This record gives sequence, C-alpha cells and structure tokens, in this order.
Amino acid sequence: MLPPFWFLSYLEREGSFVVKPIIDDLIKLLGKDNVLTTREDLICHSFDATADMPSELPDVVVTPHTKEQIVEIVKLANKYMTPIYTRGSGTNLSGGTIPINKGIVLSMLNLNKILEIDAENLTATVQPGLVIQRLNDAVAPYGLMYPPDPGTVTTATMGGSVAECSGGLRGLKYGVTKHYIMGLEVVMADGSVVRVGGKTVKNVTGYDLTKLFVGSEGTLGIITEITAKLIPAPEYRKTMMAVFSDLDKAANTIRDIIGNKVIPATLEILDNVTIRTVENFMKIGLPVQAEAILLIEVDGIKEVVLKEAEIVEEICKKNGADEIKVAQTDAERDGLWTARRAALPALAQVKPTTVLEDATVPRSKIPDMIKALREIAKKYNLTIGTFGHAGDGNLHPTILTNAEDKEEMERVHKAVDEIFEVALKLGGTLSGEHGIGMAKAKYLEWEFGKAGLEVMRKIKEALDPNYLLNPGKIVGRG
Ligand SMILES: Cc1cc2nc3c(=O)[nH]c(=O)nc-3n(C[C@H](O)[C@H](O)[C@H](O)COP(=O)(O)OP(=O)(O)OC[C@H]3O[C@@H](n4cnc5c(N)ncnc54)[C@H](O)[C@@H]3O)c2cc1C
Repeated sequence: MLPPFWFLSYLEREGSFVVKPIIDDLIKLLGKDNVLTTREDLICHSFDATADMPSELPDVVVTPHTKEQIVEIVKLANKYMTPIYTRGSGTNLSGGTIPINKGIVLSMLNLNKILEIDAENLTATVQPGLVIQRLNDAVAPYGLMYPPDPGTVTTATMGGSVAECSGGLRGLKYGVTKHYIMGLEVVMADGSVVRVGGKTVKNVTGYDLTKLFVGSEGTLGIITEITAKLIPAPEYRKTMMAVFSDLDKAANTIRDIIGNKVIPATLEILDNVTIRTVENFMKIGLPVQAEAILLIEVDGIKEVVLKEAEIVEEICKKNGADEIKVAQTDAERDGLWTARRAALPALAQVKPTTVLEDATVPRSKIPDMIKALREIAKKYNLTIGTFGHAGDGNLHPTILTNAEDKEEMERVHKAVDEIFEVALKLGGTLSGEHGIGMAKAKYLEWEFGKAGLEVMRKIKEALDPNYLLNPGKIVGRG
C-alpha cells in the first residue's frame, strides 16, 4: 500500500504551496537558505531534459551540504511519509527526476568536492554533485582520464551519471559508467549509511551491491560518495569522416572495422535526415545527398593508432565510401566533430518538441534498425532523424514534433511503442544509456517478462518498502 500522502496539509505561503510541518523541520535542519519554496524554485525543479513528460511541482527543494544532513532529511521523509527525488543537474532523458507525488527534491549540487585523486591506485573519490568534466580536468595533469563522457559531460553530475549508468561517445572502446565505479557510499531509505566496494582492483566479496546501485536512478538509495576507476589517457588519436551513398555500405563498414579487430574509441553514425538538418542549421558543407556519415576516432599509442587509422581508411574505401576526410590537425578534428555535436541542437530547432529515444540493438542489426525507423517514420507520417553510437548499436532516433498537437502526439506515442518493439525483436534492449525513469517504465515487462519484473520489484521493496525514494521510476509505483 502506498503511504497516504493526502493527509499532509498544503498551505499557501509566499505564492507557493508548502507542507508546513516538514518545511519547518527542514529549515531547522538546513537553515532557510537551503530550503527553497518559492514558486520559481519549485517550477525549476518540476521537470528535466525529457520531452513529453508531465511537469509536477514538488513541495520543497532542499540543498544540503553534508551526508549527515542527507541522513536527517531521509529521517524526516520517513517521519512525514513524504517522497524524496534526488537530483543532480536534471539533464536525464527518461523523466527520472520529475517529482510526481509532490514531496522533497534533494539537490546534490552542493556536495561537489573531489575528495582524493589516488594516482598510485588509479582511483578518484568524489562527491556526487561534482560535474563530470571537473574530474577529467583534475586528473589530466596526472596523465589519467575518467572515460564515461555523456554529451552533457560539462553539466551532468557524477551522482546523476552513476545513477543513470551513463554512456557516451567513447562507449565502444571504453564502456559505460558501471565499468568505472569501484565503490560507493549510499544513504538508504531508512537513513542508514552503507559503503559498498572500494579501491581494490579485485573484489568478489558477497553480492555486487556497487553494481546494484549503479543505474538504480535514485530509487534504491542516495549516493553520497563515489570511488571511480581512472585509466591512462591515450597519447595520440586520429579522426576521420566517411561519407556513404548507401546505408548498407556504411553498416558493412562498421561490421568490417570491428571484424578486423580494430576497436575505435568512437564510431558514430548520422543518417540522411540528420545530415540535411545539420547542414541546414550550420552550413558546414555536409553532403546532403549522403545516406550516412560515419565519424570514426581511434586512439592509443601513436604507432598503433597510425596503423589502425590506415586499416579503417582501407575498409571505408573497400566498402565504397564516396569520400573520406582524415583530420590532420586538432582544428580539423574539431571541424569533423562539429556535425556530430550539432546533431541534437540542429534537430531540436526544427519543431517545438524533440522526443529523443535510446533504442539499442546488437551492432550487426544497425541496418535493420535504421530501415525499421524509416518505415515507422513513414507509417506514422513523422520526421525521425537518427544519429548515435553505431559502433555499440546504441541509436538515438529523434522524433521532431509538437507537444501541443494532440493528434500528432498520438502518432508519436504509437511510433515510440513500435521503435522499442522492433529493438527488442532484433535482440536489443530498451536503453543503452538513458535509463528507464518514467518514460520507459511501461515497456519493462516486454524485456524482462513478469518474473523478471517481479525480481526487480522485490529488490525495490526490500530496500525501500514505503516507496519513498523517487516513486514512479523503473518499478516504483507513482
Ligand atoms: C543534450 C543531451 C545529451 C546527452 N547525451 C548523453 C550521452 O551521450 N550519454 C548518456 O548516457 N546520457 C546522455 N544524456 C543524458 C544525461 O545527461 C545523463 O543521464 C546524465 O548523466 C545525467 O546526469 P545529471 O546530473 O543531470 O542527473 P539527473 O538528471 O539530475 O538525475 C538522473 C537520475 O539520477 C538520480 N540521481 C541523481 N543524483 C543522484 C545521487 N546522488 N544518488 C542517487 N540518485 C541520483 C536522479 O534521481 C535521476 O533518476 C544527455 C542529455 C542531454 C540533454
């Protein structure tokens, strides 16, 4: 049974609806400056980067500075039976931070310190509100890097990306966030604090609770400290763009590059709709007739990179690339990446609403998935631009629409259902990197079946029996 939130009395104060007793207690705990209740503050925390999601006002936003304060906030949430929505920068794309049952938005942005860089053990220990890029800036002088690099690397937090298990452009060679998280400190739903994992390279003690919390989207605990694995930064890289007039040729190129045992750091695809939209937006001389562009970057030791770049170029030629541009300087490299960086902003300016999906298939199925996306676009009379991480099968079909147009949105919803149906039929998964949140919760049973879903529910209920942590997300009741 859900706890009865309705018994809380909502009072109007300073133009905002607040729950007086809990807010008084929060102010006693955190001070007035860290308890936000104005309408503007509530609105700013009522949505995230996800389109086509409801926007709900929380009762209050809190901005604690310490783990001890978070423990006390959780105890208050239990006392008043009110939910907590943990929030980093709010850039997630699955409706993961929307406060659907009112309650407390817990902003982690003040816990943003680097606690330790251990260059000997190749680890860094950080607080969850740290922006990812700041970690990379701090470890660069040691010749190290933290590979997960979502497109939002300069705004998203470590905590948010751990809770989403974010990926990024380097996922093909370097993997995703779960491959780099070695230890966590977590405040549980009852206010207890657990530490899981640690700094050791090997650790097979008991259940792998670290992995359980990575990707748990704020539904199982509140992450208050993160120990991440670092790796030596590559000394050299080579970037190229290959243009194809035929999608199958581009797909065969992806297959052959990997088949030849070259694993690029990045292997991205842009389809024709995306190429045309980017060119219209940026005027950078992209070939608008091309069916696909591949952007490829190999990195590592210089001699190896030069050899691998040669192999990749050869494979592109053999598969009938119309044009191959190899960057000779950093400026040329930046130029090649402009098209990829501009993909989402360019698509987003075409229509008022951009529904960005995350369907992922085995990479051999990329041509089937792209063809299916074209058919879906035609069937529902929608514009879908597709770009993404072709090398790891993670595509971002992006539907350009208008949330105000009810009839079109009905077609969008049907198209999204079909996109996930096809991805699963092709042996894929609902999410390669954006998580489930609210946006994809309804599809979970398609992938896991009833029994699998039940296992997830049991985990949720064992750790958060009152559904206080981020309700409505993954298997949490809304
Ligand atoms: C333009 C754009 C490009 C993007 N590109 C990529 C990409 O390439 N790859 C990719 O994977 N994603 C991408 N994303 C999605 C998003 O940026 C990532 O998921 C990001 O890591 C989220 O971080 P955040 O700090 O914004 O988290 P938020 O959005 O604030 O939160 C995300 C989830 O984590 C939970 N959470 C936050 N902090 C904690 C904590 N301390 N403890 C427990 N739970 C917590 C929240 O409750 C929520 O469920 C992109 C988004 C946009 C808008």
